[in-house]
Amino acid sequence: MVAVITPLCDAGMGIPTVTAARILKGQLSGHSGEETQLEMDKFPYVSLSKTYNTDAQVADSAGTATAYLCGVKANEGTVGVSAAAVRSQCNTTFGNEVTSILKWAKDAGKSVGIVTTTRVNHATPSAAYAHCVDRDWFSDAEMPVEAVQAGCKDIAQQLFENIPNINVIMGGGRKYMFPKNTSDVEYPGEHKHMGTRKDGRNLVEEWKERVKDLRGHYVWNRKDLLALNPNNVDYLLGLFEPGDLPYSLERNTETDPSLTEMVDVAIRILRKNPQGFYLLVEGGRIDHGHHEGKAKQALHEAVEMDRAIGRAGLMTSPYDTLTVVTADHSHVFNFGGYTPRGNSITGLAPMVSDVDQKPFTAILYGNGPGYKIVNGVRENVSTIDYNQNNYQAQSAVPLRMETHGGEDVAVFSKGPMAHLLHGVKEQNYIPHVMAYAACIGQNTRHCVSAVSQATGPSAALPGVLAALLSLTPLLC
Ligand SMILES: [Zn+2]
Repeated sequence: MVAVITPLCDAGMGIPTVTAARILKGQLSGHSGEETQLEMDKFPYVSLSKTYNTDAQVADSAGTATAYLCGVKANEGTVGVSAAAVRSQCNTTFGNEVTSILKWAKDAGKSVGIVTTTRVNHATPSAAYAHCVDRDWFSDAEMPVEAVQAGCKDIAQQLFENIPNINVIMGGGRKYMFPKNTSDVEYPGEHKHMGTRKDGRNLVEEWKERVKDLRGHYVWNRKDLLALNPNNVDYLLGLFEPGDLPYSLERNTETDPSLTEMVDVAIRILRKNPQGFYLLVEGGRIDHGHHEGKAKQALHEAVEMDRAIGRAGLMTSPYDTLTVVTADHSHVFNFGGYTPRGNSITGLAPMVSDVDQKPFTAILYGNGPGYKIVNGVRENVSTIDYNQNNYQAQSAVPLRMETHGGEDVAVFSKGPMAHLLHGVKEQNYIPHVMAYAACIGQNTRHCVSAVSQATGPSAALPGVLAALLSLTPLLC
């Protein structure tokens, strides 16, 4: 049985983020940090992934998710369609749909799941099941009327209709599933959290009705999630927030599960299938922390993603499970400044600038909301609390939202065929390796011949290769 765990991301986990998260993880345990090993550091194979989109040097998460889930590079802003589709032009959808490794796994009889800390209809997860020329068409309320009339479908609707009965769906995004103005169960009466759907459909009720005789369960809070016995659950829909889940530093531990808890439950449900499983896991808010210039939030998200990778590792075996951890793209985040060993990762460089004579933090952004000029000069960071959770690290250029970065991202892998992920590769190569290892998708001739030539126990192959576990830390 081959299991593939691919951490993908709309998470924006570039290599500087990986290194800084490693140091933070160690420092949270009372060590100096640099010598610490992340769970992903323990993987035996590492490769670099070229993240550009067909029409963009610096990628977005929609085009990159299409690459590492569907196996073809795509235009930015589009999910589950080839580069022949044009962003926001509904009529270019039809005939240009491409399918994902999640669908290939489902078609092969495996159980499949999606776990994310963002909305379940956000860019990364949506490339696993949707075909949409605009990543922002979360529900029909976000779509132009002409697109709806032309037959294009919103992403929430596609989640429940394109690939019937995805076994596990967990994340945020509740409001996109309910009719417009429906009060939210967790935030009753709060207008911004109310349902958005103009078509009046209640996608959660429709889902519950469909799986009511199939051991299906819908939950919207952590307590109900952890009360489930995964042995008695074959289908799970968990929607824990109207939008994205909160940052892990701000998580309400009563109502919101951690990423690690969601992964734990997902694997317990999925691994019951003797044919194996595929799981996509996204630590999607690493990306959001960076966009806001809040490096501490982003790094704590990355540490939590690593904890989830560790949990998945305890629950699976590298003998039958391929696990791939990567990012969709990087960010213009970095750290430097000749800091001494053990320096707090959110701390200051040991000297002042020899130009403006002011201190500076080790972490800085190339652009973003942290650009601060006070009385015509760069802000003196020693006058403010640069250790607080929402401190916005200084940037060279002012932008409301920090941008993605264009350099390659790392791909960490372990398990069957993990050695194929080495060297510098195009991002869309990744799902082809996973499919090859699991004997799913279009290219399975090597599996048939291996089986027919099998003469002994060493020929443990395709039928036995089953579980595809995809953990995706989002670095987008
Ligand atoms: Zn992003």
